[in-house]
Amino acid sequence: MTSSDSDPRTPMPVEACADLQMEPAEMLELANRAAELLVERIQNLPSQEAWDGEFKQGLEKELMRDPPEHGRPAREVLDAVAGSILPYTLRLDHPRCFGFVPSASTWAGVVADFLAAGYNANTITWLVASGPSQLELVVIDWIRRWVGYPRTAGGLLTSGGSAAAVDAFVAARERAGHPERATVYMSDQSHSAQVRAARIIGVRPEHVRRVASDGHFRLDLAELARAVADDREAGLSPVAVCANAGAGSTGAIDSLEEMADYCEDEDIWLHVDAAYGGFAVLTEKGRSLLQGVEHADSIGLDAHKWLFQPYEAGCLLVKDAATLEDAFAVPHDMLQDTVWGANHPNFADRGLQHSRSFRALKIWFSVQTYGLSAFRRAVSLGMALAGRAERYIRESPLLEILTPASLGIVCFRVNARDAGVDEPSVDGINREVLARLFWDDRAFISSTNLKGTFSLRMCIVNHTTTWDDVRETLEAIERFGTEALDQALRGE
Ligand SMILES: *Cc1c(COP(=O)(O)O)cnc(C)c1O
Repeated sequence: MTSSDSDPRTPMPVEACADLQMEPAEMLELANRAAELLVERIQNLPSQEAWDGEFKQGLEKELMRDPPEHGRPAREVLDAVAGSILPYTLRLDHPRCFGFVPSASTWAGVVADFLAAGYNANTITWLVASGPSQLELVVIDWIRRWVGYPRTAGGLLTSGGSAAAVDAFVAARERAGHPERATVYMSDQSHSAQVRAARIIGVRPEHVRRVASDGHFRLDLAELARAVADDREAGLSPVAVCANAGAGSTGAIDSLEEMADYCEDEDIWLHVDAAYGGFAVLTEKGRSLLQGVEHADSIGLDAHKWLFQPYEAGCLLVKDAATLEDAFAVPHDMLQDTVWGANHPNFADRGLQHSRSFRALKIWFSVQTYGLSAFRRAVSLGMALAGRAERYIRESPLLEILTPASLGIVCFRVNARDAGVDEPSVDGINREVLARLFWDDRAFISSTNLKGTFSLRMCIVNHTTTWDDVRETLEAIERFGTEALDQALRGE
């Protein structure tokens, strides 16, 4: 530091720092090029591979560099991003991507996220973002009506189902009086995110009870009742039960009505994990499958799954809106100006996030643009294609159904037993089929473990998927299945 730097009389810069700004023409050129790139990608996706990935060594060599002290033309940076980073992903929006939970966003949703970033909206308090806050109330109200919740319900948009579960469990724990030795219950089919959420709120790992599921992968209510009774007996405090409305493995739906009745009798909070299956309520069929969801104390849904929005777009609804603010609101001196008054919520007081991106915009923008009927048809399409896949599998001489289509998910395998292969080798053959399909790249599916049985699994929730995409993938599985079976029978 020179002496003039510390001299208060030294003139300070009065100009803004121009170094982080761009000329309007250049801004437009960059944004237009990015938009072109995205539109080209969407158009070319069906003719491309469903997956691409690289080993770390290759990517590290390309990317592990020191940040440059001086910049270079943004156009060049964009080309580098498009060439050597973005392609290396599972293309979750590819019409033949059926692995894990695919997600195909709508263009309106993508553009809305760009706008939200450009406006730098922060849906934190009413004062800071009244427009975005009101829109979040609108979208929450839509979803409230879709699930059949009363007007007293409320909620917020979250990063996803994981954050929704954390927020729900905190509300449940606080409503129960924050007992010292809390327990949480869920089935052995529940998502790891629910287990993690319970740990995050401080439930000891051995107090997160994984209740056995029945032959249809639904939580066994008698087992639940037994676990709760044993725990009460041992002086523990049950604070929440988590039901599946579309379990990740099989799409199984727990007995929501019965669980709600049970939890009401026992005075335990019921959270429904509808992260995967929740938006099926938009269709008549889904509505009847998820009957009873409206009796839960809270529901988590993911708009970045079956409502075709870009990540991250989750939602937590609670039946009694006040329970969230009771659990999360904390007065803050520095924010004293933001207390607007009754009926003007500060969304930061409803959950774990303080600064919050404007997630409501993409949902609202998309529904306004395409209309709700388009979303209903898109959700129905997934269920119909999964049903048709199930019929194809049942008629296939080579494949067998392991769990029937439920909310877009179907589990099956190559039926190697009928071909004379012993049961322990059947898993191996199916693993081999999955590996061959993986390296073939034309389609992507994943597997699951059904109580010890290795199962192929297809999840069909993409509005751009056609029956041909599904059929060609099943045909490829039959082809690889025949090859793997022949190989096994030859003793190779
Ligand atoms: C995706 C998913 C989650 C986790 O939600 P995130 O949005 O990834 O945080 C939880 N449960 C189920 C059933 C899911 O499908």
